[in-house]
Amino acid sequence: MANIGFIGLGNMGGPMAANLVKAGHAVKVFDLSADAVAKAIEAGAGKAATIAEAASGVDFVVTVLPAGKHVLSVYEGADGVIANAKPGTVLIDSSTIEVDAARKASELARAAGLGAVDAPISGGTAGAAAGTLTFMVGGSDADFASAKPILEGMGSNIIHAGDSGAGQAVKICNNMVLGVSMIAVSEAFMLAKRLGLDAQKLFDISSKASGQCWSLTSYCPVPGPVPTSPANRDYQPGFAVDMMLKDLKLAQQAAASSGATTPMGALAESLYALYSNSGNGGMDFSAIVKMLDGEK
Ligand code: NAD
Repeated sequence: MANIGFIGLGNMGGPMAANLVKAGHAVKVFDLSADAVAKAIEAGAGKAATIAEAASGVDFVVTVLPAGKHVLSVYEGADGVIANAKPGTVLIDSSTIEVDAARKASELARAAGLGAVDAPISGGTAGAAAGTLTFMVGGSDADFASAKPILEGMGSNIIHAGDSGAGQAVKICNNMVLGVSMIAVSEAFMLAKRLGLDAQKLFDISSKASGQCWSLTSYCPVPGPVPTSPANRDYQPGFAVDMMLKDLKLAQQAAASSGATTPMGALAESLYALYSNSGNGGMDFSAIVKMLDGEK
């Protein structure tokens, strides 16, 4: 069993840290939110008063933070993870961030004698709670091999995507599919409503037909068919609109710099920006169905 520092205990990080405790690891946690820390301590974690304390004397440091700027700010500086981790510590970043930021983070770690993988996640808060996340991992073979047993405490699919940054590249592509498919599924439910079709009937049939996808069967945007989906709790996240918007922007930046053509991704980014600018950035991303229904 390993000693693990865990930084970032939000919608995803909170349940992930609790699963590492359940798997028998010694976990010490840090977050800016006292409530988030209190919940993790209730789940059996220890408290680190600072980032430096979370990073010192451990075998692994896991971060699950909003964006690249947060990860680099937590990693860098005299009080940061890299300056305070002992040589050989492996840094596992499960935030969704820019490919370049992930590569920079791993270069900084390697220069300090640490291991590092980018290990973004898929599966939503339900997957985080159940320990069934998919991890897409970028890093060396050796660092992947070190991180794998820790990731197995939080997920059921641990896949090596390639060198540093490759995990983030896969994640950006995956979430572009998710953003586009959530809008498509939402449009279908709103069309069905206007055609006088029962939402449950559309769900029952489409989930067994070619419209089947995760946005429909695991995260249905209308209340009823999938009891665990945020639609059944007034669209509290879950995965916030502003997080989805961040990921769609990352996909568009990557498309622009690589020359890829992604018109549906661009449209999804515009629609999520519109919904966020109407004051809905903190809602779950499946709430976009309400905009399509004509609600503000
Ligand atoms: P969240 O906003 O719920 O949690 C982020 C946590 O980080 C908060 O508790 C915040 O207090 C903490 N934090 C921010 N800056 C910090 C700092 N400097 N030091 C310590 N703690 C700090 O976000 P989330 O939904 O858990 O998402 C986290 C990451 O996982 C994001 O990159 C997101 O894109 C990705 N992700 C989320 C989901 C999802 O369904 N929510 C799914 C896959 C991937």
